[in-house]
Amino acid sequence: MQRSLRLFSKAERIMDLKSKKVTGKTKFSGSSAKLSRIFITGGAGYIGSHVVKTLGEAGHELLVYDNLSTGHEWAVLYGRLVKGDLADTTLLNNVLSAFRPDAVIHFAASIQVEESIREPLNYYANNVVNTVNLLEAMIRHGIRNLIYSSTAAVYGIPGTIPVSETAPLCPINPYGASKVMVEGILRDLAKARPFNYIALRYFNVAGADPKSRIGQAYAEATHLITRALKTARGEYEKLSIYGTDYSTPDGTCIRDYIHVDDLADAHVLALEYLMDGNDSDVMNCGYGHGFSVREVVAAAKRVTGINFPVLETDRRAGDTPALTADSARLRQKTGWSPHHDDLDFIIRTAWEWEKKLSPIAININKER
Ligand code: UDP
Repeated sequence: MQRSLRLFSKAERIMDLKSKKVTGKTKFSGSSAKLSRIFITGGAGYIGSHVVKTLGEAGHELLVYDNLSTGHEWAVLYGRLVKGDLADTTLLNNVLSAFRPDAVIHFAASIQVEESIREPLNYYANNVVNTVNLLEAMIRHGIRNLIYSSTAAVYGIPGTIPVSETAPLCPINPYGASKVMVEGILRDLAKARPFNYIALRYFNVAGADPKSRIGQAYAEATHLITRALKTARGEYEKLSIYGTDYSTPDGTCIRDYIHVDDLADAHVLALEYLMDGNDSDVMNCGYGHGFSVREVVAAAKRVTGINFPVLETDRRAGDTPALTADSARLRQKTGWSPHHDDLDFIIRTAWEWEKKLSPIAININKER
């Protein structure tokens, strides 16, 4: 480790050295529960920071590589943080060569559907080209294990729900298309080289750390639960319901909302599964049932006790009517089972976080 620490301080890239004392205990019990070194791109972001928390609590040695475009230094509760971009292949290779990870978890990506329709090239550059940069660097440094953040958007408008991993991949926006491309690249690479991966297809990730240390903190909130809670806080005048004429029971879209800590557990179990020598795979991450936009709005009002204003508007471009996960593969192969399958709990943790977030956001803005 001396070597890596020297390299990083020389390059003045380390934002933080929070190598906390670890217990070496893990609630995960697979045979690879031994501690590993894990390189995490995008680990300062919403989902990445929850996975860092879970891995850090289990005692793994972590290095987060994040350009902080949407992530935050304060969100990295464990390990070290290097501010870096995947387009900066020199820095990327230097950091990998010094850290020598056993595995990589790759979160860093652009994730907004609407923006991807407006700026497709940015999405293909950041999500596809930068992932190729990462894969090339992994191959160069002999790193064989990857957990990849994919998405339910790969399915587009599925014929049946809950949708299984074998359903056709028909993305309806550049964001989903960029993730399908990378899944294809991973499949080809695993055939050509000693390289294994699990692509986790996330459904609608929501909620926050139950201790309110971390949570969603995007400059612009687009997700339903976050927008509803910010409206309850008075940050927005009203919440728009995008489309009430879908072919669903109440006319609004149905989604499978999964608590971010349950998703974090899925990453750790998928990583153990991979490091136990199992084959590459793709796995859905969701609870298997969904809620309509109207049901989520009602739950947000119930949890907050605030009857915030709601406006029914036109459909939003790129939305699929109903999307829920068949997560049998994840459950059977990794032993995953959810602990927070409760919409009110998800919203309550997000609400506690929202109430704490405003002062943090103000501090961030002051620093700029
Ligand atoms: N939605 C809405 N109002 C909002 C944000 C989202 O009605 O302010 C709807 C959106 O059209 C979709 C569902 O809520 O049907 C979930 O959207 P979100 O952006 O949270 O996640 P997505 O499913 O697009 O990944």
